Amino acid sequence: MKKIFSIAIDGPAGAGKSTVARAAAGALGAMYLDTGAMYRTVGLYFLRENLLEDREEIARRADGLNVSVQFEGGVQRMLLGGEDVTEAIRTPEASMAASAVGAVPEVRAYLVRLQQETARGISIVMDGRDIGTKVLPDATLKIYLTATAEVRALRRYAELREKGERPPFHEVLDDIVERDYNDMHRAASPLTRAADARLLDTSNLTLKESVDEVVRLAREVIGG
Ligand code: C5P
Repeated sequence: MKKIFSIAIDGPAGAGKSTVARAAAGALGAMYLDTGAMYRTVGLYFLRENLLEDREEIARRADGLNVSVQFEGGVQRMLLGGEDVTEAIRTPEASMAASAVGAVPEVRAYLVRLQQETARGISIVMDGRDIGTKVLPDATLKIYLTATAEVRALRRYAELREKGERPPFHEVLDDIVERDYNDMHRAASPLTRAADARLLDTSNLTLKESVDEVVRLAREVIGG
């Protein structure tokens, strides 16, 4: 029987974590869980309730949130109280809302529990900010995926243009820099590289090269 393994991929916004993690999971025959989507879902809830500024109320409601993850043919869908919000969470407002609610310890406790339950007993690749440090401290392989802020902003900019949006580049860059700052300076589980995480800087790598490197590192530790 093949050994069960887990791979934690952390890093700042726009480093390509989700694209790389999804492709690597496919190549390794593992499930992929995008934990940022879970923070975005909680963020969307508080954005709609107009409560993003009210940390106490966010903390109070955290445990009763009705967030769930479904997999349809391997594709992750996010549900908020039964409503499919998979597309609705992909807006700049939902990104910022995710970053805001992600600073609240009660929200993190709720989502980390959900992530650990999802990972139990299966081979999984998970990406986020605290996967190697908090969610899967015993992961088979930990990777810290990064790239310069300019390169990450350029990638995000290209993505947005592909969707038909025309934001000024400096706004996309400011957004990335602001989110980095929030994620790295919050008190609860700030984004840091786990001591035992391998550093992968993708500034000068194509997507395929990044995926190949993750798969190579994974095969090294899993065998096969
Ligand atoms: O990865 P993504 O851009 O979708 O994440 C949105 C936000 O959710 C991040 O900026 C971060 O604040 C938060 N997040 C987190 N912990 C994770 C995943 C995401 O705090 N494991």
